[in-house]
Amino acid sequence: MPLLEFTSKGIYCKQADVYLDPWRGVDKALISHGHSDHARWGSKRYITQQTNVPIIQHRLGNITVSGKKYNETFSINGVQFSFHPAGHVPGSSQIRAEYRGEVWVFTGDYKTQVDGISTPFEPVLCHTFITESTFGLPVFRWEDPKKTHEGINQWWAANQTEKTTSLLMGYSLGKVQRLLKHLDPSIGKIYTHGATEHMTEVLRQFIDFPQTELITRDTTKKEIEGNLVLAPPAVMGSAWMKKLGRVSTGYASGWMAFRGARRRRAVDRAFVLSDHADWGGLLSAIKATGCENVITTHGYTELFAQYLNEQGWNARTQKTQYASETEEIVTAE
Ligand SMILES: [Zn+2]
Repeated sequence: MPLLEFTSKGIYCKQADVYLDPWRGVDKALISHGHSDHARWGSKRYITQQTNVPIIQHRLGNITVSGKKYNETFSINGVQFSFHPAGHVPGSSQIRAEYRGEVWVFTGDYKTQVDGISTPFEPVLCHTFITESTFGLPVFRWEDPKKTHEGINQWWAANQTEKTTSLLMGYSLGKVQRLLKHLDPSIGKIYTHGATEHMTEVLRQFIDFPQTELITRDTTKKEIEGNLVLAPPAVMGSAWMKKLGRVSTGYASGWMAFRGARRRRAVDRAFVLSDHADWGGLLSAIKATGCENVITTHGYTELFAQYLNEQGWNARTQKTQYASETEEIVTAE
């Protein structure tokens, strides 16, 4: 019997009788991070990394949850578990499980880039590595995020000289705070949509961010003009967006590396910025684990597993209900 198995409710450790990021309600769930496809409502007890506790409480409401420090080991029926930084969003973890000398690591989502707000990714030695592969194709190679952030500030400054408001969109947990962290407040004021403001407020207890101001009914177009507004992508084309006056729209996502993606979303400016590992990041992460077995769970799973097999790993694909980044955008709001 493998230490972790894939069931209709999610990834299951029979020995400990716990699930990892289950997609149905279970008795005991270990949670990798706060995105809605990984932290789902309906389980009786949740265990997660301590920074992720207020995040999932904000998302899931009144739940029973306990928090662990990174690298803190805890035992459930003889299985040793621990959470290790995944670098994906604040509070995100890889989950390590060890039983009788056999070690498995489940990544949830991760990236190897340092984003300035999440604890950076740390490789964990294991025999079997269950990895995401959202961007598991060689075409995905991220540019230096510093350049992306500079490009965003330049776009904002240029819009301001034309008295145009910059509407910058990214999903509410992780991306939008990463954008905020690197905005230059000397250019102007930073306004927020409610979904953005509330999650950012939760994270302010751990992370220092530039000041923001929530857009309310009383906020006028004149006040906003030339400033920057952070919002989830769901506002695109909404009545809320029309209240902002003349805007230039910008959208930050790894999918913006695809030419067609920008046209599909019909934004004025596309910024390539992802909270997932690119091709090089995935490969370096896998090598650093020293693992023999790899299981790919979501993204370009088949092609990526095939490549890994050619390179000498024992790799296979397993169907899960975790979303790729585009779907996350739609479902996370
Ligand atoms: Zn995620």
